[in-house]
Amino acid sequence: MKHQAKKRFGQNFLTDQGIINSLITAIHPQADDFMVEIGPGLGAMTQPLITQLNHLHVVEIDRDIIQWMQDFYPAGKLTIHNSDVLKFDFTGIGERIRVVGNLPYNISSPILFKLLENTAQIVDMHFMLQKEVVERMVATPSSPEYGRLSVMLQYRLQMEYLVTVPPEAFDPAPKVESAFVRCVPYATLPYPAIDEALFAKVVTAAFGQRRKTLRNTLKGLLDDAGFSALNIDSQLRAENLAVAEFVAISNYLATAQP
Ligand code: SAM
Repeated sequence: MKHQAKKRFGQNFLTDQGIINSLITAIHPQADDFMVEIGPGLGAMTQPLITQLNHLHVVEIDRDIIQWMQDFYPAGKLTIHNSDVLKFDFTGIGERIRVVGNLPYNISSPILFKLLENTAQIVDMHFMLQKEVVERMVATPSSPEYGRLSVMLQYRLQMEYLVTVPPEAFDPAPKVESAFVRCVPYATLPYPAIDEALFAKVVTAAFGQRRKTLRNTLKGLLDDAGFSALNIDSQLRAENLAVAEFVAISNYLATAQP
C-alpha cells in the first residue's frame, strides 16, 4: 500500500527481509500461541507471523493502516484492535499472551511500564526499540546506562539483548540505531518486594538525583540506623545498588517499626 509515514506515530517501517527473518526466528512462533503485535504498521512482521500462527491480535492506532489491514488480510486470521496501546486492555484478551512489536520509539518507556503491570498473563515479549533504551534495560549496576528503567524492569523480567539493527533496515531510516530484545517475566520473583509501591518509590527517589549519595537521595526514608542494619554504605549512589539491595531497602522500610 502507498502510505506516507507519520512521524507522530513513530512510523519507521522495517524493510530489510534478512533482519525480519532473524527477528521471526528469535520469536519462534508456534501455531497455537496467543500473540499480540503492537503497531503492525504495513505488516513487515505481521505477514510472516500469520503464516506461522493460527491467529494473531494486532493493536494499531493509525486508522489509515487499519483500513488497509481490514481489506488486505484474510478475515479470521487477524483480530484488529484500533486502539492506542497505552489505553489497550491486555487483561481482557487472553491468559498466556506473547507480545511482539517494533515499537513507536517516542512512547516505548510508557509501553514497557504498562506491560510491566500485566506480567502475570504474559509469557514473553520481543521488542524492537532504540538501541540506547535496550542498553538501559539490560544494564548492570555501576555502568553508565544503569538506572530506574533497568531496576524496575529487571525486578520482574529476565532480558536478553538479541541483535543490533542499523537505521538502513527501516524506511524511513530512524536517526538512531535499534536493537531487538527478549523479555521473559519471572515465574517466581528472585527478590520479591513486600510492598511494590514502596519499592518503586525507593528506586525513583534514589535515581532522582543520580550524582548524589544514597544518604541524600533517601533522606526522610532511610536513616543511618537503616543503612547500618542493611549493611549498605550510605555514601554509594543509586547506580551502585543491585535490584536485590533496592528490594532489601524497601522491605526494611515496609517492616520497620514506627
Ligand atoms: N511493525 C511495523 C514494522 O515493523 O514495519 C511498524 C513499526 S513502526 C516503528 C510503529 C507502529 O506503531 C506504527 O504502525 C504506528 O502507527 C504504531 N503506533 C504508534 N503509536 C501507537 C500507539 N500509541 N498505539 C498503537 N500503535 C501505535
